[in-house]
Amino acid sequence: MFEKVLIANRGEIALRVLRACRELGIRTVAVHSEVDATAKYVKLADESVCIGPASSMQSYLNVPAIIAAAEVTDAEAIHPGYGFLSENADFAERVENSGFVFIGPRPETIRLMGDKVSAKQAMIEAGVPCVPGSGGALPDDPKEITKIARAIGFPVIIKAAGGGGGRGMRVVHTEGALIQSVTMTRTEAQAAFNNATVYMEKYLENPRHVEIQVLADQHGNAVYLGERDCSMQRRHQKVIEEAPAPGIDRKAIEKVGQRCVDACKRIGYRGAGTFEFLYENGEFFFIEMNTRVQVEHPVTEMITGVDIVQEQIRVAFGEHLRIKQKDVVLRGHAMECRINAEDPFKFTPSPGKITNWHTPGGPGIRVDSHVYNGYTVPPNYDSMIGKVIAYGETREQAIRRLRIALSEMVVEGIKTNIPLHQQLLHDGDFVRGGTSIHYLEAKLAKKD
Ligand code: ADP
Repeated sequence: MFEKVLIANRGEIALRVLRACRELGIRTVAVHSEVDATAKYVKLADESVCIGPASSMQSYLNVPAIIAAAEVTDAEAIHPGYGFLSENADFAERVENSGFVFIGPRPETIRLMGDKVSAKQAMIEAGVPCVPGSGGALPDDPKEITKIARAIGFPVIIKAAGGGGGRGMRVVHTEGALIQSVTMTRTEAQAAFNNATVYMEKYLENPRHVEIQVLADQHGNAVYLGERDCSMQRRHQKVIEEAPAPGIDRKAIEKVGQRCVDACKRIGYRGAGTFEFLYENGEFFFIEMNTRVQVEHPVTEMITGVDIVQEQIRVAFGEHLRIKQKDVVLRGHAMECRINAEDPFKFTPSPGKITNWHTPGGPGIRVDSHVYNGYTVPPNYDSMIGKVIAYGETREQAIRRLRIALSEMVVEGIKTNIPLHQQLLHDGDFVRGGTSIHYLEAKLAKKD
């Protein structure tokens, strides 16, 4: 096994990766910005290196500083976590060309899946069901664009090939608004992603977000670890996630899961990854693949017993996958609430010092967080400060445990979205299960 791994991230995922390394007997290097110097995982790591000031551009996105940190500490591999450089093919390439192992897929794979047009093409070839669409980048000719939209049927959605984080998308309901919308999305995409390529898809009006977790080694083996339902979203950001997805036929999941496994083998995928789908009227439609560990991976870990982060590290080292598809047995139900430092209903960020922090416990409760009493949430990064995950033999039990856990949790000094979670965990439709990706925003709009 590796002797030393550098963790190129911060916050809860840095701590999560650190724990996985410790369990595997791997020494760790934490890199941190000036403002994160006192973080818990920095102290727990065997070594730490400051890579720059608070601004992500100068620290967590600072490729030369991270490579230099790996060099001076003699790390063998780099775990990118999620966000930051985790899906940056140029970074993965730099890591490998500098003689380190990138704990993730090959740079070519990241590049292929990072461009949504090429990703979709690869999935169509692999037999993975996709949202009906333009079948490639949109041409310049307005007449051609209109022809494509008519063939798909309105409403349609214009999406940036290089888009991410819920940005670079525009829904078009009528032909009259089409060309202007395409032009605007192109301009925005060029500015935001330095790539003006856009494509078109049928806009699904009431889908759920259901995703398949996969694991693949470097020897042609791949498995899928069931699915997650992440339909509770606001501005395309997930709020609550669960596994399995309530009310979906297991046969349908097995079919799409097997297609994902086949696709992994076809593209030579390596590591952990997620195929994201929209699910509507009993059908799955691929939208994109995340070539990294996801925030919501714990719900899958809780129902499969597989430690996804440890498996990522093992397969990056070159080990064979230790499980076969028949060994993947889903047991019970798990649900995760993302705890954000923000106003629960206005959603304005609420950084600052946490004067009192008490986490819940009890059977089936897992808290993934780097926060401690007296910790100051810096204003420079994502507002997520942790995750509370509950396991139950049934979905009902998981919800009940999650409600109790949140009622025990104390966070003082800053605002969090715990009150919003408490409302959602008592919401009749959500408790019944199977709400769509628009549910939360519609509920919030009604409240206003
Ligand atoms: P990103 O990479 O920015 O997260 P995705 O392609 O994963 O972009 O889409 C993000 C979200 O946008 C989806 O979870 C869904 O809510 C919405 N969305 C994307 N494509 C469609 C579509 N064809 N129809 C309806 N909603 C869509």
